[in-house]
Amino acid sequence: MSPTGSVGSILSGDIPLSVVITDVNMAKVYTLMAKKSRERGQQAEADHINTQSRGSEVKFGRALNVLLNVPTGADGHFTPYSPADLQFHGRNGMMVSNLSPQQHRLLHRALKYDMWFVSRREAGQIYAAALSLPSLAQEDKSRLQIEARPSLAGGQGRFARRGVATTTAAFDLQTGNKILVAMNAVLRAAGKPEISETEIHFRGNNGYILTISQFNERRLALVEKIGDALVDQEGLKQPHEVNMFPPQDPPCTNETCIICCDGSITSAINPAGCRHAFACDTCLDKLPRCAMCQAVKTGKAPFHQLVPPISRDHPVYHAALGDVTF
Ligand SMILES: [Zn+2]
Ligand SMILES: [Zn+2]
Repeated sequence: MSPTGSVGSILSGDIPLSVVITDVNMAKVYTLMAKKSRERGQQAEADHINTQSRGSEVKFGRALNVLLNVPTGADGHFTPYSPADLQFHGRNGMMVSNLSPQQHRLLHRALKYDMWFVSRREAGQIYAAALSLPSLAQEDKSRLQIEARPSLAGGQGRFARRGVATTTAAFDLQTGNKILVAMNAVLRAAGKPEISETEIHFRGNNGYILTISQFNERRLALVEKIGDALVDQEGLKQPHEVNMFPPQDPPCTNETCIICCDGSITSAINPAGCRHAFACDTCLDKLPRCAMCQAVKTGKAPFHQLVPPISRDHPVYHAALGDVTF
């Protein structure tokens, strides 16, 4: 194979002429670009790229060339990957043409194995696992604690109409900080090193990007906790394999489970005790303790079956809505 990545290899069908770097994978490219720049003492170059106009092929092309180890140009900046070979793939990524076989391999490996996108749903499983640790330190307990919204006026909270996005409560309450604390609590319990703040990047509403590769002992320990919720990482894709729009985030309502950001809050934990409501039934079943007050779980009950029934004297303490009295 030619060291420059010959056209001959491309034409022989080894790799497709054009590939798509999906929306999530574009975020991986920027995250990895920042990491590589930092490691090489080129922080200023990362800043230069990050300040370029959003949504431009040139900005992405520069970040891409950092990953492809293309040297900086005469002006000290990374020259962008040829803009003529970059084209937005609808709203779900960038189509890149004419990668050499080496570049294709390097990029595919970086996206699929070296970087780790953790969806909110996956992160929620780690969060639940941390809350379940018998060895959870008091400090971590308080940092992982879900705090209730202040009561609505007069304590007259009503459950939101199903499917109506009234707030982004679950997204606000499952913060990146909580997830990092949860990950490190799990890792400490497994005797592994911790994840530093520079290794995790919050990615909008849909998850987190970690610069931790596939066989890293920490990633393996966390993957174990994600269990069935684990989704494969995507590498480079062919254009026909990628939708023009990124997958939609599930709507986030007052009823969205704060642990998995997927199920709905329909039950309270500890019906005869704290009556806190913050998670879906699946997540409540996994927890040994209440995530809002740490009381040991004695059980759970759907709102309409609570005894005593929900009333002003016996409210449900809802994480997103405050006290719900009817
Ligand atoms: Zn849940
Ligand atoms: Zn509680």
